[in-house]
Amino acid sequence: MLTMEEASMSTTATRYVYRFGGGVDDGGKGDKNLLGGKGANLDGMAAIGLPVPPGFTITTEMCTRYYTDGGVYPESLKAEVANGIAHIEGVTGKKFGDKADPLLVSVRSGARISMPGMMDTVLNLGLNDETVIGLAAASGDERFAWDSYRRFIQMYSDVVLELDHGAFEEALEIAKEDQGYTLDTEMTAADWKALVTEYKGLVSKLWNKPFPQDVNDQLWGAISAVFGSWQADRAKVYRRLNSIPHDWGTAVNVQAMVFGNMGDTSATGVAFTRDPATGENAYYGEYLINAQGEDVVAGIRTPQYLTRAARERAGAKPLSMEEAMPETYAELARVFQILETHYRDMQDIEFTVQQGKLWMLQTRSGKRTAKAALKIAVDMANEGLITEEEAVARVDPAALDQLLHPTLDPKAPRDVLTKGLPASPGAASGAIVFDADTAERRNELGDSVILVRVETSPEDIHGMHAAKGILTARGGMTSHAAVVARGMGRPCVSGAGSLSIDNAAKTLRIEGRTLKEGDILTIDGSTGEVMAGEVPTVQPELAGDFGILMAWADKVRRLKVRANAETPLDCQTARDFGAEGVGLCRTEHMFFDAARITAVREMILADSEKGRRVALDKLLPEQRDDFAQIFMVMAGLPVTIRLLDPPLHEFLPHGEAEFEEVARAAGVGVEALKRRAAELHEFNPMLGHRGCRLGVTYPEIYEMQARAIFEAALIIKQRSGEAPIPEIMIPLVATKKELELMKAIVDSVAKQVFEEQGASVDYLVGTMIELPRAALKAGEIAEVGEFFSFGTNDLTQTTIGISRDDAGRFLTQYVDKGIFARDPFVSIDVEGVGELIELAAERGRATRSGIKLGICGEHGGDPASIAFCEKTGLDYVSASPYRVPIARLAAAQAALANRK
Ligand code: PEP
Ligand code: MG
Repeated sequence: MLTMEEASMSTTATRYVYRFGGGVDDGGKGDKNLLGGKGANLDGMAAIGLPVPPGFTITTEMCTRYYTDGGVYPESLKAEVANGIAHIEGVTGKKFGDKADPLLVSVRSGARISMPGMMDTVLNLGLNDETVIGLAAASGDERFAWDSYRRFIQMYSDVVLELDHGAFEEALEIAKEDQGYTLDTEMTAADWKALVTEYKGLVSKLWNKPFPQDVNDQLWGAISAVFGSWQADRAKVYRRLNSIPHDWGTAVNVQAMVFGNMGDTSATGVAFTRDPATGENAYYGEYLINAQGEDVVAGIRTPQYLTRAARERAGAKPLSMEEAMPETYAELARVFQILETHYRDMQDIEFTVQQGKLWMLQTRSGKRTAKAALKIAVDMANEGLITEEEAVARVDPAALDQLLHPTLDPKAPRDVLTKGLPASPGAASGAIVFDADTAERRNELGDSVILVRVETSPEDIHGMHAAKGILTARGGMTSHAAVVARGMGRPCVSGAGSLSIDNAAKTLRIEGRTLKEGDILTIDGSTGEVMAGEVPTVQPELAGDFGILMAWADKVRRLKVRANAETPLDCQTARDFGAEGVGLCRTEHMFFDAARITAVREMILADSEKGRRVALDKLLPEQRDDFAQIFMVMAGLPVTIRLLDPPLHEFLPHGEAEFEEVARAAGVGVEALKRRAAELHEFNPMLGHRGCRLGVTYPEIYEMQARAIFEAALIIKQRSGEAPIPEIMIPLVATKKELELMKAIVDSVAKQVFEEQGASVDYLVGTMIELPRAALKAGEIAEVGEFFSFGTNDLTQTTIGISRDDAGRFLTQYVDKGIFARDPFVSIDVEGVGELIELAAERGRATRSGIKLGICGEHGGDPASIAFCEKTGLDYVSASPYRVPIARLAAAQAALANRK
């Protein structure tokens, strides 16, 4: 309610002060942007009649203005603040600066979103040499009054006067020592009083002025300190790390003090309306009798349980609040219910009990684990508190990672050696091995191993499969190791730059420590941490809530979700996680299988087409079998198979010993093998003889692959009666002509196979769009291609011109310096690469209306990139199997956001 005078003021000048409590409401409407998070919720709680000590909020707009005006306040603010103080005086019946019964206030910061511990707070403001005597008389507790005064001087000197707080702590320690005390609680009224004298002396010495005695000077000092703390270095760093804009500003909340330290009917505590670790619908919290809030935080005394059940479960003795203060507890429980119903979310609450009366000091949405987030969302929807769609919108898709993979036991100690990139989530421990063969051998013997490589290549695939986790010194988030590990669901830390590997000596040096083969190492692919020794892990629990939320997500999702998978096992995992098809089967991975690599090498070493065909004939039955198995697992769903993509030299050996072994196996001389390897050497293999360029020069390779696909499809059609739906995809196309040539190969093989077998299946031939030219010429390319799949790994690499394998070495700096908001290999560079995708989608559709559009780069599992795909109207995203649930949830959230 505004008085006439105030109403006229608010029409002539911006209102900077909003009051709350005592039935007064200035219409801030719980606006977080204006009042900050804390202020908005104090206002909100007061508005619904909860017991909130009266106060007022100076808006974030004032903070911004304070900075733009060079640290001065507008004239009108003085009157507004005075009016705010008068409001508190009116409600409490106490006067600010009154010698008989003084009003004390707290002055706290409160940004739009909470920045824990980053900004300043001053408590017990309003005490001076005279009011302290009044407080002692009015409260009947001299010790309390002098303790409050010394706390105030200490805090004010630190926060507002910026004096060395060590000097104050030291003085307290000396005072206790002199008396032979160990605890603050042993200090008497006289002891505190003496310390106050000491503290005032310290202020005069360090500040060259006496401690401010005028309560209004104290107040304005504190207000400016809170505004000032917005620009403190630590707050700036926090904002940068959490992407909080610097121009948001903080609000200042001035509120009547309530005291939890006024004897045994007083207390202070923090509570969550549901368990933030498990999500269980049970109150969870701690409280301390006869204490102030900072005592709980500072850990000076051990807090006690809030509920009897929690105390009994822990086998603790001191009474819970439910037992010690049953009436106040019942009131608190009632408030919890009201708050949850009002804010429709689990709340994190601070409260104080002053002589039996409950006061609410703060409420906000509580932080929670992924498991709790899931349970709370599902429970609240079932309770009717929120809708199913709101439940879907509330769970952070990225947090699902925590649930789908084993995680490190949070209680276990860790000896962290270094940190690399969190390339593939989950945690694993095992013996260090330095090569894939050893990994496989030791795995067969039943050992858990961690494969440690400078970087991995497709040749290491069997070792990666055998390993529990993978650690590489080089490579970014889309390096081979990262992509393959994610696909397999293996934890992986890549690009751990401080790692130096000596393969010959089979040792590893990290930050001055040396580890050898067989030593135990733990990696956490969710954080990038590398630890010595074994750290126990906790297995994921895919409880019912997960399935329920996923089903709700699927109801609102428009984008289809497919998986990048190339083994029957990966396909099964993906299907179990809800994949609606395979969006990318990278056939090269099949070539590395021990049973085929010899034939692959024979094909590469052949010096004529005839010789190559002989080798390819050996590969055909193996490939056919691969595809048949995948079609079986994915029955009824589309499967996109990409023809061979990597440059051929990746399949040849590297080291001397390997050359000899391979030459023996292939029946050729070592020299001939080396010569061929030298011929195939490329300076820039990523931009070299790969993708459809292989099909142009060696059409017989793609012919064999196409034949394997069609023969497999017909086998499955005959066996199950249901025809698979192959989508054959040509990689690295830049021109329409390339695709024409490749499609002609596929179509002619299809014709042959269908004639031979007297049966046929439907199929599509499409292309990856992973080169800028392909995106630009998408209109023409769509005349031939029946679908597009955006290969955003290569498209990012070729658009920005940053090698995906070398990016790890410097991209973090690019992100730190704000050149990219996020690693563009992780989250689509919407402005650049995104524009090419939009353009290609538009041009492709213009030629072939309704052309199927998908994305199969690593971005297909990244929620922000999925939101972009939804906006662009793609048909599906394809992600590694373990990211399929994340993609389903992110796609649902993107659809909901788009609806708005
Ligand atoms: C891509 O480039 O985005 C893609 C999916 O292909 P690959 O990662 O195999 O090059
Ligand atoms: Mg590619």
